[in-house]
Amino acid sequence: MRITALAGGVGAARFLRGLRRAAPDADITVIGNTADDITLHGLHVSPDLDTVMYTLGGGIDEQQGWGRADETHSVAEELAAYGAHPLWFTLGDRDIATHLVRTQMLAAGYPLSAVTEALCDRWQPGVRLLPMSDDRVETHVVIPDDDGQTRAVHFQEWWVRMRAAVPAERIVLAGIDAATPAPGVLDAVADADVVLLPPSNPVVSIGPILAVAGVRDAVAAARAPVVGLSPIIGDAPVRGMADAVLRTIGVEVSPAGVAGLFADLLDGWLVDSTDEAYVAAVEEAGVRCRAVPLWMRDVEAAAAMAAAALDLAAAVRGART
Ligand code: GDP
Ligand code: CA
Repeated sequence: MRITALAGGVGAARFLRGLRRAAPDADITVIGNTADDITLHGLHVSPDLDTVMYTLGGGIDEQQGWGRADETHSVAEELAAYGAHPLWFTLGDRDIATHLVRTQMLAAGYPLSAVTEALCDRWQPGVRLLPMSDDRVETHVVIPDDDGQTRAVHFQEWWVRMRAAVPAERIVLAGIDAATPAPGVLDAVADADVVLLPPSNPVVSIGPILAVAGVRDAVAAARAPVVGLSPIIGDAPVRGMADAVLRTIGVEVSPAGVAGLFADLLDGWLVDSTDEAYVAAVEEAGVRCRAVPLWMRDVEAAAAMAAAALDLAAAVRGART
């Protein structure tokens, strides 16, 4: 079975670890969000690709959900001593090695997809990890300025430094118009037996991937069932501040609100068992919906979620034939 998943960072990575366990023989392709990418101290950092790679490769800091296990911060301390900005984003020493390799390879002319493959050679994530695009795309957030105007900041600055507490007026994907899918992305969607949308941030993780030219159309046209899992339980994200970006784009912060964002793509949608009340609304929008436990408290729980998603995909496929 060929499974293709679109992926952000922590939510996706934990889900994918469960998926690998639930479908050990499947051929899994992961299309990763690169719109969170940022240049820091001259280094190209790909937070979402690295979170997936480290989590599946066994190198993740389990508590944090991102960054390397057993990390130290000597370089960050030295940079701070120089007053080298930004001070709000700390790179760990081990993590920096990844960014050094990536930056060096990009400078030598390799596309990000080739660089990602090379990095995965070490981590052996057990999936094929593709960046959504080899072209640079950056999520920027438009916020009010002191003098009554607005200004755009990199998503990471808004998310990490401002903790998404400054209300965002708009979210802009800088570079998206010129971005084309990385090699293999469209084929992975077209050739899949199942397409999955893990419980990732719908606006700034899944959104940018779907916004790359041709990707949303490819998912809509996929012969495979498309099944997603809600990152929202009740009226709040399970972790993080996804509610802030949903409000910015005027989408209700609920499992049904997020399903509505993808209604044209989805065949199936999973909501948490406590959100049974939303099932009818989702089904009215033409999407098959089931309520199952959606808390990834450990790998077993994530595997059960993945199994439920594959089950729903099979039910959708069965209903079609
Ligand atoms: P990021 O790029 O690191 O923010 O990661 P993602 O975009 O992949 O995932 C973030 C989303 O994952 C957030 O909206 C969370 O609500 C969601 N999430 C995290 N843990 C869980 C969980 O255990 N269950 C569910 N259903 N969603 C989760
Ligand atoms: Ca991210």
